[in-house]
Amino acid sequence: MTGVLHFPDSELPRIITADSHPIRRKMIDKDAVFVMRKLNQAGFASYLVGGGVRDLYLGKPPKDFDISTDARPGQIRKLFPNSAIIGRRFRLVQVFCKSGKVIEVSTLRSLSEHDLDGPEAILAPNNTYGQLPEDAQRRDLTINSLFYELENNTIIDYTGGVNDLDRSTIRIIGEPEKRINRDPVRMMRAIRHAARTGFTIEKATWQATCDNHHKLLYCPPSRLRDELFKDLYGGSACRWFNFAIESELFFTLFPLYRTILFSSPNNQPTCREQLQHLLSLVDQINRQAQNGKCRKLSQSFLLALLLLPWAEVTYELSSLKIKGGAIYQLSKKLRYNIDELFAIPFNLRKSIRQEIVTLLANLPQFVRFVQNDTHPKWLKKKSYYLQCLLFFRLSQKAISGESSSAESLDNLVDTISADSPRHLKKSKHSKKKSRPAFSPKKKGGIFGFRK
Ligand code: ATP
Ligand code: MG
Repeated sequence: MTGVLHFPDSELPRIITADSHPIRRKMIDKDAVFVMRKLNQAGFASYLVGGGVRDLYLGKPPKDFDISTDARPGQIRKLFPNSAIIGRRFRLVQVFCKSGKVIEVSTLRSLSEHDLDGPEAILAPNNTYGQLPEDAQRRDLTINSLFYELENNTIIDYTGGVNDLDRSTIRIIGEPEKRINRDPVRMMRAIRHAARTGFTIEKATWQATCDNHHKLLYCPPSRLRDELFKDLYGGSACRWFNFAIESELFFTLFPLYRTILFSSPNNQPTCREQLQHLLSLVDQINRQAQNGKCRKLSQSFLLALLLLPWAEVTYELSSLKIKGGAIYQLSKKLRYNIDELFAIPFNLRKSIRQEIVTLLANLPQFVRFVQNDTHPKWLKKKSYYLQCLLFFRLSQKAISGESSSAESLDNLVDTISADSPRHLKKSKHSKKKSRPAFSPKKKGGIFGFRK
């Protein structure tokens, strides 16, 4: 328990008994309960941890149920025949349940990164196993560091997480600057959870984020990309954007907006306003997708929407009167700039980069054709026709700031789906494998490109 000594206010855990918290056993996923019970029966401790406890406490359905135990990965693996050890940075065990669910079980870790006398290495590895209090202290936010224990139905709180949940506060555990140095991604996590919950970010956490966001550049690009997609798909991207702008973290992720955020191309709303409109539209679509009402936007579609205001300012896309070779030239310029300023720093796949360029470079001709109400046959035959049409319609809504009811979004999706059969006929040359991007019948269509 030596690690706890670094945190004078958390020497003893606060135990919150069943009569003082809202979590009930029946709220917990059956498979998670099965895994916890089996660990307990084998003589190990097991706890529900992280976002699962936080969300249950707040009365929200958790996205996943993570479990921590004092059993080592090899011991967990032996206990669950249908499981696999994964992870290089952190080894954990995935238990594959009959229902098809995957429950992640991790071994309690030590707080070696908190070692005050240790070197200030950014992203210091933390793979040593530890005890409950240490595992709590090495987590990111106080509200994410709670343990729920099944047998006694209690919450164990070493960091003041329950207080922060009650006071609607987002707080990094320990000294924010030090914890951010150890893993800069924690700044993104603080902002994400503030955006999702509507909580206020505590002063020291906020100040450390404002002062240190440039350190995100020390993180591996793939990690930044994964964290960014969690923000964009979570349904609170618009609120996330406001926090990211105020802290200026946004400019570390999107340096191409640094000098143009308040520019307004052709007397349109400023880039900031356009991005706000775009992201609130994205939130609406994501929420509908979460309720199974429509399919998710593809990653390339989302990123192309995010880059649209920049492309408008830089190339005046909507007012370009170009065709043929000029579109090719525009694609080349877009590809170069997007690779340089955006795609390489996020380590985006080549296919995603190409789809972003296709959506943006074709916008000028869609503006022209839709304005003249002419959709030439050759264009309709293109594999990208429906994606670009949807991109055009969403971009128009977003740029004009026109509010969209859930119904109007449904209509938009329906229009595209209704158009589909005509456009989706296979051309003579199309190979058997290729299928339409917006097939209403197959998974991965509508908003998604081909899988
Ligand atoms: P979500 O609802 O998005 O799943 P979550 O808090 O459960 O939110 P996960 O990415 O599933 O997020 O992480 C699970 C837990 O792991 C977190 O609640 C937190 O305790 C811990 N964690 C995740 N990332 C970090 C990090 N960078 N530093 C410290 N702890 C982390
Ligand atoms: Mg989680």
